[in-house]
Amino acid sequence: MTIDMGINTSDVIVIGGGTGGYSTALRAAHLGLDVTLVERDKVGGTCLHRGCIPSKAMLHAAELVDGVAEARERWGVKATVDSVDWGALVATRDDIVARNHKGVEAHLAHAGVRVVRGSARLTGARTVRVESVGTDRAPGGRTEGSPGVRTGSAPGVLDLTARRALVLATGSRPRTLPGLDPDGRRVVTSDDALFAPGLPASVLVLGGGAIGVEYASFHRSMGAEVTLVEAADRIVPLEDADVSRHLTRGLKKRGIDVQAGARLLDAELLENGVRARVRTARGETRTVTAERLLVAVGRAPVTDGLGLDAAGLTTDERGFVVPADWDQLETAVPGVHVVGDLLPPPSLGLAHASFAEGLLVAETAAGLESPPVDYAAVPRVTYSSPQTASVGLGEAEARARGHEVDVNTMPLTAVAKGMVHGQGGMVKVVAEAGGGQVLGVHLVGPNVSEMIAEGQLVVGWDAEPSDVARHVHAHPTLSEAVGEVFLTLAGRGLHQQ
Ligand SMILES: Cc1cc2nc3c(=O)[nH]c(=O)nc-3n(C[C@H](O)[C@H](O)[C@H](O)COP(=O)(O)OP(=O)(O)OC[C@H]3O[C@@H](n4cnc5c(N)ncnc54)[C@H](O)[C@@H]3O)c2cc1C
Repeated sequence: MTIDMGINTSDVIVIGGGTGGYSTALRAAHLGLDVTLVERDKVGGTCLHRGCIPSKAMLHAAELVDGVAEARERWGVKATVDSVDWGALVATRDDIVARNHKGVEAHLAHAGVRVVRGSARLTGARTVRVESVGTDRAPGGRTEGSPGVRTGSAPGVLDLTARRALVLATGSRPRTLPGLDPDGRRVVTSDDALFAPGLPASVLVLGGGAIGVEYASFHRSMGAEVTLVEAADRIVPLEDADVSRHLTRGLKKRGIDVQAGARLLDAELLENGVRARVRTARGETRTVTAERLLVAVGRAPVTDGLGLDAAGLTTDERGFVVPADWDQLETAVPGVHVVGDLLPPPSLGLAHASFAEGLLVAETAAGLESPPVDYAAVPRVTYSSPQTASVGLGEAEARARGHEVDVNTMPLTAVAKGMVHGQGGMVKVVAEAGGGQVLGVHLVGPNVSEMIAEGQLVVGWDAEPSDVARHVHAHPTLSEAVGEVFLTLAGRGLHQQ
């Protein structure tokens, strides 16, 4: 039985409550617009429930395990890790997720965003039909006294109309490969890996992008035998080649079998794992037996059942919704905008990019003139051990785009704090030749995710090495190496010439 809950009009309707959708909704509500957000699962989306936050919580635990090994091996601390209690780790991780989830719900409620729980389908360019999932929660964050919304616990249908803007923010899901269907136990996606009953003793990770590398790193810290297979000739192939080289070196040093330029030929399911054949870059065929095969070959946009055609919208051949106007992220249908993982490159499939997109779309809907998202200045981080963090162009990419460049690199072990950490790593800066604009900053090493903020301002503000060289970096820090690289590019190198 369904209940017709009437027609409701809002200034802005957002479909999808992930980082892209909820940031749009929050900012629009802060600007005084009447906003309805439709979410069929939980606000916070992939990033909060299956992506950034749980994975980084787990990687923090992994760092602690690695720290015990370092303490023993380098610092004379007589400590060992007895075992890892997966249940306790998961409980802490899930508590962090749950508290963040409550926080997002509270922000939305406080801003006055009407949250409708259900699956949305477009019925026109500004109209949406929501099939409520009919739980015991009322279909709306602002339920009590929400004007125009009748609530109930039974499944219902709600028709919504947007006065100003309709925002598509339905995100993405893990891509899989034909013939390699995840069963959640032996062949898993990054979603399944979170909810697995325990830690595997061996893992074959397919895909050397950020997600694959992070999971390879996590499982290695937890004691698993890990093989990482990437089809491109290097892992994190979208990053500068030196980033890939240093990351590969760091992962190999930790005992991860990194196979770049390699292909999975086939995989046979065993009772408790998989047996896979991998063609290596050298053309050899290797058999890898592992308890788990983690498929991390990218993410696919989610548009099925969304009814794009009813609004006159289409996707490109990869399933992305392509804006006609990137400056306002507006589709070919006026007033219909798109944010987050539903966007093709140059958007980045990153939560912080989707926050920026949400701000832009909300401000546009409110009639403000906001600058377009500067994708070149959005940082990209891999939270493995070692970490990578980059912003802007790599050396080869800069040259391919016709820039004449000056490049300077420095190993982190060239500064005292880098020696203290003892984990290698490097700083690389690519700048327009002759003291011109900084085009890219690339870091590998411990904690570089916290260091890239400087690079992002340098690239985002079109600074030159001499602008940075005027500023003093604290001693002893890892960021000193960044300062030194800029000093040298500005012709004032102290420890480098
Ligand atoms: C393992 C992993 C680690 C990651 N780590 C990072 C990281 O460290 N940093 C980073 O920046 N990014 C990271 N990401 C990427 C990040 O999670 C995504 O870029 C981000 O979540 C995209 O947000 P979104 O709002 O576009 O989509 P999503 O977060 O996917 O949200 C879309 C929402 O729409 C809802 N929905 C879909 N269809 C409908 C419908 N028809 N009706 C109603 N609701 C619907 C879904 O339920 C979902 O909640 C990671 C991703 C993964 C998988």
